[in-house]
Amino acid sequence: MPSAAQETVIADSLDGVDLHNYKIQQASSPQDVLRQRRGRNAAGRPAAQEEDGGARRGPGVVFWEDAPQVLKFNRFIRSGYRAGYSYPQCLASLWGLHNETGNIWTHLLPAVALAMVALGGLERPWAHAGVAYAVTTGSIVGCFVLSVCYHCFMGCHRDYKTWLTLDVCGVYLALLGSQWIAVEWGFPCHPALRLWGNAIYYALGIPGLALSCLAGSPLRRGLPMLLMTAVRVCLLILRWAIAQGSAVAMRHYWAMEALVFVGGVVNVCRWPERWQPAPGPRKAALLDHWGNSHQIMHVCVAAGMLLVHRALGEDAGEAFRAGVECAAR
Ligand SMILES: [Zn+2]
Repeated sequence: MPSAAQETVIADSLDGVDLHNYKIQQASSPQDVLRQRRGRNAAGRPAAQEEDGGARRGPGVVFWEDAPQVLKFNRFIRSGYRAGYSYPQCLASLWGLHNETGNIWTHLLPAVALAMVALGGLERPWAHAGVAYAVTTGSIVGCFVLSVCYHCFMGCHRDYKTWLTLDVCGVYLALLGSQWIAVEWGFPCHPALRLWGNAIYYALGIPGLALSCLAGSPLRRGLPMLLMTAVRVCLLILRWAIAQGSAVAMRHYWAMEALVFVGGVVNVCRWPERWQPAPGPRKAALLDHWGNSHQIMHVCVAAGMLLVHRALGEDAGEAFRAGVECAAR
């Protein structure tokens, strides 16, 4: 609690400051009010909004207790919520610190890196497979970009569900965008397996996209993706059993599945922020901004996607050689 002298100083500092912003009004104490007006969050770190030479003020960040219901999907993240932002303010918050900063940058950086590598000609597209290279790279970059948009623009929380749907579409873009090539190149001498493998995967994946977009809970949203993972794992086991395709690619595919699985479990279990609770109501928790479960999941997914890209590159040459041999038999 502030002393009487501190309260006088705080009251003086607040004099003349308009308090129309409901988020600021709902701060728990005069010190919180001051902290937020100064562009600092509850942990004393700079918040998303920065004053523009004192002439323009952006919206603040709020605690869990004051966040809109639609943003309250992880009860262990207690501060740094953006709400009621306009789209320009959401974009400006790319450079600020809030509880989506880590989620944005863990997918923005790999998107930029992969796009630069592909567009900058730093990587030679796979021999005889320019279209497959473009589709795979595009679907992975597209997945990252839609994720970045979701995490950036959810601050405009009235449109939250639209951005969530686009995020789900991005996941499916990556899941559906490269699997047909993995199957085609994974079984170069088994056309029936290629046909059935892709037919089953896409027969699940295309309706799965619609079901996930319409789902009302994370469990229902993730269930079709889980079924698709099961099909991919079965195809990998089959591929291992009949020793088809590149062995290096196989290792990359298994590593990707393991990374995505670990990331998914961490995200569902809300580790490690579950173990670092806030000291009380309207208090920040240690991992509100960095190192929480969703960011760990993002890093795992990004590493997994990049591994798939590498795996397909390994498969490209091997599959072409094996396909020629099979056709000559
Ligand atoms: Zn995310």
